[in-house]
Amino acid sequence: MKIIDLSSTYQTGQIAGNPERHPRVELKQMGKIEEAGFNTSSFLLGSHTGTHMDAPRHFFADGAPIDKMDLHLCCGPVALVDFRHFKPEACVLWEHVKGLHVQERMLFVFGWEQYRSIPQYQKSWPYFSLEAAEYLADQGMKLMVVDTPSPDCAAKDYPEDFQVHKSLFPRGVTFVELVVNTNSINFSSEYRLTALPLKLQGLDGSPCRVILTAEEIG
Ligand SMILES: [Zn+2]
Repeated sequence: MKIIDLSSTYQTGQIAGNPERHPRVELKQMGKIEEAGFNTSSFLLGSHTGTHMDAPRHFFADGAPIDKMDLHLCCGPVALVDFRHFKPEACVLWEHVKGLHVQERMLFVFGWEQYRSIPQYQKSWPYFSLEAAEYLADQGMKLMVVDTPSPDCAAKDYPEDFQVHKSLFPRGVTFVELVVNTNSINFSSEYRLTALPLKLQGLDGSPCRVILTAEEIG
């Protein structure tokens, strides 16, 4: 079986979004082999740090928390969508998605990882119009996976209203954001997606291990 790991590595000092709402990642050794006979560590992560899953609780006080996510949704066939031609700040419109074969799980690849070093990385990713996102949900998409920080727009001068999150959560859609390593994907292959969040009681999201698997041919 071929496995492609789409998960980011969590490392000490890593920044994730607004520092008022997310801590810097801190991985710290606690027990040491020399003293205790074994190594143990602590880790400090934000609930939306690196590759992660959003739970409805992220935007709705009474929404389902991450420990109650339906694991059927997290594992299964996935439709791959090659959106690498979208430039920073581009908007995905209804006409861009209307011809797609919509499945329960959809992975949208913008190739955003390549912009990681530019200053606008945290703001100017391509995003979905409300019309396009609602169309995908109406067609049966339940898990929306993106390699950007969000399917919503956060560009300068754009109101941060998170309209896609707010409209799609009540329609039963969940989001996985900031997947990486999309260069390893062969868009003509068929994959199964596994995206498993930690079972953190009552939380709005969780770091997530995300992989694609495919039967090895030849
Ligand atoms: Zn998130």
